[in-house]
Amino acid sequence: MTRQGLDELKQQIPLLDYLRAQDWRAARRLSRGRWMGLCPLHGDRKPSFMVDPNKGLFYCYGCGRGGDVIRFAELYHEVRFPQALALLRQWRGLAPLLQETAAFYGVQLHRHSEAVIYLQQRGIRSPELIEHMRIGYAPGGCVRGWLMELGYSLAALRQAGLVTAMGYDAYVRRIVFPLEGNLYGRSISPSAPPHRFLPGAKGGLYCWEQACQVTEVILVEGLFDYASLWQAGFRNVTCAMGTHLNGRQFRQLCDRPRTVYLAFDADTNGSGQSAAQSLACRLREQGLNVRIVLLPDGHDPNSLFLQGGDAGQFRSLLEAAQS
Ligand SMILES: [Zn+2]
Repeated sequence: MTRQGLDELKQQIPLLDYLRAQDWRAARRLSRGRWMGLCPLHGDRKPSFMVDPNKGLFYCYGCGRGGDVIRFAELYHEVRFPQALALLRQWRGLAPLLQETAAFYGVQLHRHSEAVIYLQQRGIRSPELIEHMRIGYAPGGCVRGWLMELGYSLAALRQAGLVTAMGYDAYVRRIVFPLEGNLYGRSISPSAPPHRFLPGAKGGLYCWEQACQVTEVILVEGLFDYASLWQAGFRNVTCAMGTHLNGRQFRQLCDRPRTVYLAFDADTNGSGQSAAQSLACRLREQGLNVRIVLLPDGHDPNSLFLQGGDAGQFRSLLEAAQS
């Protein structure tokens, strides 16, 4: 890549925007438009990470590292220069494409009764919730044509994983939930694999911006669990899309002292509960207060509410949670 190409990339990805997308928040303002906050590159206790948006540079007084947005991507994702460039290019190109895709699937939801019926079977009824989660439906066989009409190349759609190598829509008969930098699709046909993501990271904790406002958060396994709790009025809920937290999600949970309620599935084989136990250990090592919510056997939060559970019952389970 030429010098000019690098400058263009840096211009298109302002350092501050990129940092914010990785959940970095400024703690205080300095002179000349600079900001100071906790360093995302080392376990920082008091803000030592300085950002100069005008120059597009950062410097950490704690770990002594600094540079531009490319250097930041190298350090933060622990990759070499070419991979950092690839990640940044992908980040720049993917966001608008996923926006268009999510909007398209959002419109499809109301045009396909099988999708609405499936949501009702999973207990999702509130239009407010559907709007909040931007729930959509991928019928299959139509997103490729729509996106190409908007000017996206087939190669870009393949690279994003929205279209298969054979040229078909990757998401077929799936309820779709937009994530940050990804798209989760839940199959409504029992014969297909239930879960599908685009290649690449699943992103941070779901709707973390909202949940992190409070010091007590409920962490669930799946987006339907999230939906049930949100619909029942719990706003301090978040989801890791599985029981395994990626590095980013783990750092998010630990970014300040808080109480975390782990409400994982009570599967009959005990896998949800053993995942909760080991996660609880790791979180406690970081100084967090962790409580494990014991759901009735065979239940997850979604099925609990489906079988007539209500906010009061779930609140009692929270109160009874083991610390
Ligand atoms: Zn640092």
